[in-house]
Order: sequence, then structure tokens, then C-alpha cells
Amino acid sequence: MSNPNTQHIAIVGGGVMGVTLAYHLAQGGMRVTLYERGDQLGGLASYMPYHGLRIDRFYHTILSSDMSMQTLIKESGAAGRLHFTETKQGFYDDGRLYPFNTPVDFMRFPPLNLFQRFRLGLQVIYAQFENNAAKMDRIPVKDWLVRIGGRGVYEKVWAPLLRAKFDSETTDVPATYIWSRLRRMMSTRQGVTSKEMMCYLEGGYYSLIEALAARCEEAGVVFNLGAPIEEIVVERARALGVRTTNGLHRYDAVISTLQSPIFSSLIPGAPRSFRDLLDKQEYLGVLCPLLILNRKLTPYYVLNITDKSIPFTAVVETTNLIDPKHVGGHHLVYLPKYLAPGSELLRWPDEQVKAEWLGHFKRMFPDFDAAWMTDFIVQRARYVEPLRPIGTTGEIPPARTPVERLYLSNTVMVYPDLNNGESVTRLAGKVAARVLEDAAGWSRE
Ligand SMILES: Cc1cc2nc3c(=O)[nH]c(=O)nc-3n(C[C@H](O)[C@H](O)[C@H](O)COP(=O)(O)OP(=O)(O)OC[C@H]3O[C@@H](n4cnc5c(N)ncnc54)[C@H](O)[C@@H]3O)c2cc1C
Repeated sequence: MSNPNTQHIAIVGGGVMGVTLAYHLAQGGMRVTLYERGDQLGGLASYMPYHGLRIDRFYHTILSSDMSMQTLIKESGAAGRLHFTETKQGFYDDGRLYPFNTPVDFMRFPPLNLFQRFRLGLQVIYAQFENNAAKMDRIPVKDWLVRIGGRGVYEKVWAPLLRAKFDSETTDVPATYIWSRLRRMMSTRQGVTSKEMMCYLEGGYYSLIEALAARCEEAGVVFNLGAPIEEIVVERARALGVRTTNGLHRYDAVISTLQSPIFSSLIPGAPRSFRDLLDKQEYLGVLCPLLILNRKLTPYYVLNITDKSIPFTAVVETTNLIDPKHVGGHHLVYLPKYLAPGSELLRWPDEQVKAEWLGHFKRMFPDFDAAWMTDFIVQRARYVEPLRPIGTTGEIPPARTPVERLYLSNTVMVYPDLNNGESVTRLAGKVAARVLEDAAGWSRE
């Protein structure tokens, strides 16, 4: 076996995926150089500086069952910053807020009749016993939800949630989408009646990125920030290296963590059929204003919204998870709206978003007073949640691409899991193991 130590690899993208890959590959003895377009690591999990504080651009929670994340947090040395909190979820329906946490809450949920409440509970339990992801992938989400939970529950609970999440009707969405979500949410509880526990990192997700990056640097990883890759150069069906404004940098191999269509645009030398596959991949975007308040708004971490007329999907009050003392005493309320590809809302100016969002916010919370609001900050991202139409798992690109020495590790590949830190760090561990395995053979070639 050759020593992978002699191999030098480039990673493109410095989000959670890229930094986790860098960590594992460096641990495995490789020389690693990472290129990040932005001037900060973290990508979607990066922070915005706010009067000397670091505030997550987007809300991020770690579930008590997210073991890959917790292992990484421990190994990086950030465990002292991890806090566990009991959280609550709510539902906003017809002008009222309802708790939506335990089977007891389901049984009392007023928008449903007694029989419908029972069927909703059945759906949640059923999802825990279904283990066949391939089967779930072939069933339209509506068919599965109506079959187990009934049409009434579907119309009242699931249809509005799906419409809000996908920013459209969901005819082509597989059952995996809700099935994975129900399993993930229930995994935070020890038994159906127990309380929901979630975790957060003091300083936000970036605390993990920062701690991991420090371990990486100790192991010799080089981070190039403000360094967009213009091309991953392919010659004779093999990755030669990466091109930046400073020219070509040669490597033994390259791993891209970029979203599929962006990756495709960087590899003009790759086979057309592979680029077509990448170009086909659609993503939801997100428009995610953050309201900074000087007081608590609700008792809920997440308040789900079923009212079609409200433009945002949920009210995510992260300071019902995060101790406000860790964010300068502020109360943080995110008002996300997931956006279908091509949505014009991604281009709305901040002032227009603010006027529209606050108008509806005041309708939801009639007692809201402008004096409670310290700030309103609009964040957006175009490529967030990969969309996977029914029965298309065969179109998920592989980690080993058709180009020799060119690897891919991106959020499309976590399916049927949802896109989150847990699935991303788990995938990064697997792809790193594959690359290290391959690297052992490279110097024999
Ligand atoms: C609103 C919202 C809420 C979320 N909530 C949670 C949550 O509660 N819990 C959870 O675990 N996860 C959550 N997530 C998901 C989590 O943020 C993602 O799973 C994770 O950040 C994905 O990381 P990534 O590295 O795959 O992608 P990204 O973060 O997108 O990283 C890709 C990186 O590549 C860089 N890049 C792009 N082009 C180039 C180029 N040409 N050259 C060099 N670099 C380039 C980008 O700048 C970026 O830094 C949430 C996400 C959003 C948007």
C-alpha cells in the first residue's frame, strides 16, 4: 500500500461539507487545500456579524439524536459550547396558536376532529416502523399521507405544510419527504410521551466550523478564502487541478462540494451526459428575514403556519432554544419562505420584503408593537434544498464521477435524508473514506 500522505487534494467549497471532508482527509494523512469563494468559511452555516456578536445567517438546530454532528463537535474540541434545551413546537391555524408536541397535544388539536387526531397520531407512529426507503421513494407523498392519516388530516395539516415548503402544489414529491422528517423529529424523543430535546452551539454553527478548521490547520490543511474556483480542469478524462484568477493549480485529485448545477458549470471538460445529469438537479431557494426583538414572542422554537395568505412558512424563534444571553440578550425570530426555482421573490428588494412580511406578522400577532423590534435583516440563498422527483434515485450522482480523480460530495447525495448538518457530515465521512481508499492506489498508477 502506498502512503496517501504523498497525495495532495483540493476541496472546492468551505461549507460544513467541505470543512468536514478536509478534517477527515487530513486525519487520514492527506495534504489538503480548500478553496472557498466567500471571505468566511461556513456557507449556509456561516454567521453575520452583529454589533460584536455572531448570529447565524439561517437558524440551525442540532437534534439530540444527531450523533455524527455530536461526535464531530467532541473531536473538534467545541463540546463545551454545546447546550441541550427542551423545545416546543406550535401550529398557527385560523388566527390561533396551538401547542403541537406530544400525542396529548395531537389529541387536543382543535382544527381536527377526534377521529382525525387519532389518525394523525397513527401516521406519526407508522412512519417510525416503516424502514423501506426505496418503497417510500416510489409513493407520491399525498397518496401515502391520505392512505394512513386520511383526507381530512391531509387537507388540514399536511397539504398547507407541503404547499408552504415547496412553494407550489406537490404532485411529484415522494413520500420520503415527510417520512424522513417524521422519523427525524421523533428521534429527538425517548419514547412517544417524552419531551423534545434539541441542541445549539454557543456562537452558532460557526463555532463547529471554526473549531474543526483549527484542527485542520494543525494537521496542515490550507484554507484559501476569497478564492472562487473558475474551472476544475479536466484533461484526457482526468482532473488535473483547479483554476483561480491566479492560474492553474495542479492536484492529485479534486473534490467538489458545490450544488450540482454550479459544479457542472465549472467542469466544461467533463462528459456532456454527466453535466446534463447535474444540470437537471433542481433546488429550492430560501428567503429568510430575521427579526431581532427586545422581548420573547412565543413559547415555541417553531410555529408552523397553515394559513395560505401568510407569505412565510414558519416563525422560528431560536431564542426559545438558544439562551438569549448567548446572543447579547436579543430575541431572534426567523421568518423563512422556501422558494421554487425561478421565484421572483428572490429578487425582491429588502424594503419590499420587510413591508410585506411585517404586514402579515402584525396580523398574526395583533399586540405586536414596533418598539419591540430592534432590527429586520433579510437573508437569502438560491440553492438550499435539493428537489428529488418520485422514483429518480437513479439520477443521484455518484461520489466517484466519470472523470478520474474528480469526486463529488454534495447535498443531493444525502437522499432520502434531508439536507442538514447530520446528513452532510455523515456523507462527508463516507466520501472521505472512499477517497482515502482510492488514494492508496494512485501512486501505483
Ligand atoms: C433556512 C435554513 C435552515 C436550516 N436549518 C438547519 C438546521 O436547523 N439544522 C441543520 O443541521 N441544518 C440546517 N440547515 C441546512 C445546513 O445549513 C446545510 O445542511 C449545510 O450548511 C450544507 O452545507 P454544504 O457545505 O453542503 O453547502 P454550502 O453551505 O452551500 O457550502 C458550499 C460552499 O461552496 C462555496 N462556493 C460556491 N461556489 C464556489 C466556487 N466557485 N469556488 C469556491 N467556493 C465556492 C460557497 O460559498 C459555500 O461556502 C438549514 C439551512 C437553511 C438555509
